[in-house]
Amino acid sequence: MQEKFKEYASLIVRVGANVQKGQTVVVSGSVDNAWFVRLLAEECYEAGAREVVVRWKDDETARMKYLRADPAVFDHIPKWLVEFYNGYAEEKATLIGVMDDDPELLKGVDPDRIQRWGRASGAALKEYVGKQMQNEFAWCGVSIPSPAWAKKVFPDAGEEEAVEKLWDAIFKAVHVGNGDAVDLWLKKVETMARRAQTLTDYAFASLRYKNALGTDLTVGLPDGHKWVSCGEKAKTGFHFVANMPTEEIFTLPKKDAVNGVLRASMPLSLKGNLIEDIVFTLKDGKIIDAKASKGLDILEKELDLDEGARYLGEAALVPHDSPINQMNILFYNTLFDENASCHFAFGKAYPAFLDGTLTEERKKELGANDSFTHIDFMVGTEDLSITGVTKDGREIPVFVNGNFAF
Ligand code: ZN
Ligand code: ZN
Repeated sequence: MQEKFKEYASLIVRVGANVQKGQTVVVSGSVDNAWFVRLLAEECYEAGAREVVVRWKDDETARMKYLRADPAVFDHIPKWLVEFYNGYAEEKATLIGVMDDDPELLKGVDPDRIQRWGRASGAALKEYVGKQMQNEFAWCGVSIPSPAWAKKVFPDAGEEEAVEKLWDAIFKAVHVGNGDAVDLWLKKVETMARRAQTLTDYAFASLRYKNALGTDLTVGLPDGHKWVSCGEKAKTGFHFVANMPTEEIFTLPKKDAVNGVLRASMPLSLKGNLIEDIVFTLKDGKIIDAKASKGLDILEKELDLDEGARYLGEAALVPHDSPINQMNILFYNTLFDENASCHFAFGKAYPAFLDGTLTEERKKELGANDSFTHIDFMVGTEDLSITGVTKDGREIPVFVNGNFAF
């Protein structure tokens, strides 16, 4: 096992964040998994990092705060926190986020507190998040097991066994175990980039989604949209992989040109709550109706966060035969579940999907959505068909029976 941990840490630092000599690296991770954060820090220094700054998280005191802190706390982000992020962004420090969150950490918390904190931090960290989305610096988000998360995924196993099983699943998902993960990933990045280029070259006017679950949706795409896969290039000049695992090739929908019915194919873990059986009805891009069999109040709060929250900001293609889907495990963690299935996000569109030289105003005109939120939800099924319609009306199969047609 020890070798696999080291292989994973090395993959994150060398390919994911691609830490360069002399760079500052900010690592956020949980106190419960301090050993893994330390392993990462060691790899970063090994790669020549100037300094590794750790921002510790703790699930239990975070939950305590939501339950017991003064209500006014949730409308105000402390200055030091904003300065922390803006300062390191200015330095173009590399960011590594290690997530091991309990998917139901905030169960039973007043949704109003969650919404207000989301709104306040969205506003306070807007500049920072904008820079991250523009790839001003390299960043990489990864996950490791916590007992609470592992027990959620493997409820029938004992705690220790569940954690071990989740480690195994994560290693499978990120191709760690044979000592060749770094090489495998470099090849994978290349293949996915080629596929993304093919999609970009078609310059589709729209995509039509259909399956037996009930999705029947037309998604307009903006003029000049680009399809993006893992392996982006930061403004620092170095490639990085923003999420590990990753199987998605994605772009942005045209804000006001999405119409029809969209049914989620998996539960969504949102802000420490599970939302099940989501059905959205969209008209001229707006989610005019939302249904869910569980967690609808939490979902509605998120959709009402701001004007853009009810519009889509991402359309992502993931083959049904992705290795994560093949494991047939519901991870209750978006980073994994989104790579098992085609998905959309409601909320902010990543500006990198359009020509970087365009002004923000022009991007908005073309149909890029803006919001403080960005929530992925899964829609792929084994019978999903997606047809691309070109500007001159030609119909090109993109997905047939849940997988790429080319
Ligand atoms: Zn995505
Ligand atoms: Zn997303």
